[in-house]
Amino acid sequence: MRDTRTFVIIGAGQAGGWIAKTLRAEKFTGRVVLIGEEPYLPYERPPLSKAALLGEVDVDGTYFWPPETYDALGIEVLPGTRATAIDRATKQVSLDNSDTRIYDRLAITTGTRPRLLPIDGAELTGIHYLRSIDDSLAIRADIRKGSKVLIVGGGWIGLEVAATLSKLGCRSVVVEAADRLCGRAVTPDISNWMVKLHQDNGVEVRLGTVVERFEGVSRLERALLSNGESIDCAFAVIGIGVIANTELAAEAGIAVENGIIVDDLCRTSDPDIFSAGDVTNHPNKQLNRRIRLESWENAQNQGIAAAKSMLDKGEAYGEIPWFWSDQHDANIQMIGLPEDWDETATRENPAEAAFLTMYLKGGIIVGAISVNNAREIRVAKRLMQAKKVLSVDYLANTDIKMQAMLKA
Ligand SMILES: Cc1cc2nc3c(=O)[nH]c(=O)nc-3n(C[C@H](O)[C@H](O)[C@H](O)COP(=O)(O)OP(=O)(O)OC[C@H]3O[C@@H](n4cnc5c(N)ncnc54)[C@H](O)[C@@H]3O)c2cc1C
Repeated sequence: MRDTRTFVIIGAGQAGGWIAKTLRAEKFTGRVVLIGEEPYLPYERPPLSKAALLGEVDVDGTYFWPPETYDALGIEVLPGTRATAIDRATKQVSLDNSDTRIYDRLAITTGTRPRLLPIDGAELTGIHYLRSIDDSLAIRADIRKGSKVLIVGGGWIGLEVAATLSKLGCRSVVVEAADRLCGRAVTPDISNWMVKLHQDNGVEVRLGTVVERFEGVSRLERALLSNGESIDCAFAVIGIGVIANTELAAEAGIAVENGIIVDDLCRTSDPDIFSAGDVTNHPNKQLNRRIRLESWENAQNQGIAAAKSMLDKGEAYGEIPWFWSDQHDANIQMIGLPEDWDETATRENPAEAAFLTMYLKGGIIVGAISVNNAREIRVAKRLMQAKKVLSVDYLANTDIKMQAMLKA
C-alpha cells in the first residue's frame, strides 16, 4: 500500500539529493519534495574549483544524477525556489513564490555560504567568492592567460583555485592572515609543505598579511595589503571560510549552535525534523566530540543516514572524517582532525612524490595526511578505526606493507 506521508527536504545540494535518493532506495512510497534555491539539480561542488574551473567539465557533468532519475523515482524537485519559513505547529514550509508545502517529516540540508570580506572596495566587479556553479562560471569568464590574480585566504578553496589558475597560465598571489596555510585543517608540517608546493608552481604566498582595501574605478584594479604592498590584479577570489545556513532552523525555534544541532540519528530538537551535511553540528564517537564538517563524504553519508532515520530505520552515524583536495600535481587526503598528538610516523616514497604522515596519541592513530598516497591512507583509516596501538618505528617502516599492519 502506498505511504500517504509527505517528506520535504529544504536544500537541493549533495546531502538533500542523497536524502531524496535514499528514501526511494529504502522503498519509501510517499511524496518526496526537494526544494532548492539554486536553478540546478543537486550537483558536485568539488569540481567547481578543479575540473569545472579548468573547463573540463560542464554544468551537466557536475550533476549527481540526470533529470530522468528524479522523474523515474518520483522525486518532486523545485529548483529556483527558496524556503522562507518553517511553521512547526502546522508542519508547513513557506516558499518565496508564496506557495507552501505541508510535511509529515522534514529535512533541512541548507549547507553553508561564503563568509564575506567587509572592506572598502569589496563591491567592485571582479571580486569573486566560490560556492556555486554560477560562481565558478563567473570566475572562469574572468580568466585570461598571463594575468595576475589575487587569492584572499590560504584555505582549501583559495589554494585549489590558485593551483587551477596556474594550470591556466595565470599568476596567483595568495594572501593569508594566519602565519600558515590551511591552518584550521592541517598540521604545521603540512602547512609548510604546502607553501613550498605552491611556490614551486609559481604561486606567490604572503602569510600573516591581510587585504585592507580594494581599489578600481568600476572594476577591481588593485589591492592594498597590510604589509604596505599594492598588488595590481585582474580579479580576486575570496575564500575566507563559510557560514552555516542555520537561520531558517533558528527562526523556527530549532536548536542551533555552530550549525543545526543533531544527534547521531540526524534528529534535530524537533522529532519530525532532521538535518544533514555541512549545516549540521553532530556528535562523532570516533573523535569523542561534536563537529561541523565541510566535506563531500560527510554530506553524502550523513544524508544517507538521515533518510534512514526519517524512515525510523536509522543507525548511529559517526564516521572518521575524510577529506581530499587536489592542488597542482598533489592529491592531498586527510583522515580525522589531527589536533592533539604526541608522535608522528611518516612513510615516504620520493620516486612518486608521495608520503603519508600519521599522528599518534598514546600509540593510537588520531589522524593522518597523505600526498599522492591514497592507498596507504585508506589502511591508516582502518588502523585508526581499530584503535590499534603501534609504534612509530613500525608504522614508518616502508619494508612492511601497511596492509600487513592490519593483522599485526
Ligand atoms: C569549490 C568547492 C570545492 C570543494 N572541494 C571539496 C573537496 O575537494 N573535497 C571535499 O571533501 N569537499 C569539498 N567541498 C565541500 C563539499 O562540496 C561540501 O561539503 C558539500 O557540497 C556539502 O553539501 P551540503 O548538501 O551539505 O551543502 P550544499 O552543497 O551547500 O547544498 C545546500 C543547498 O541548499 C540550498 N539552500 C540553502 N538555503 C535554502 C533555502 N532556504 N531554501 C532552499 N534552498 C536552500 C543552497 O543554495 C544549496 O544549493 C568543496 C566545496 C566547494 C564549494
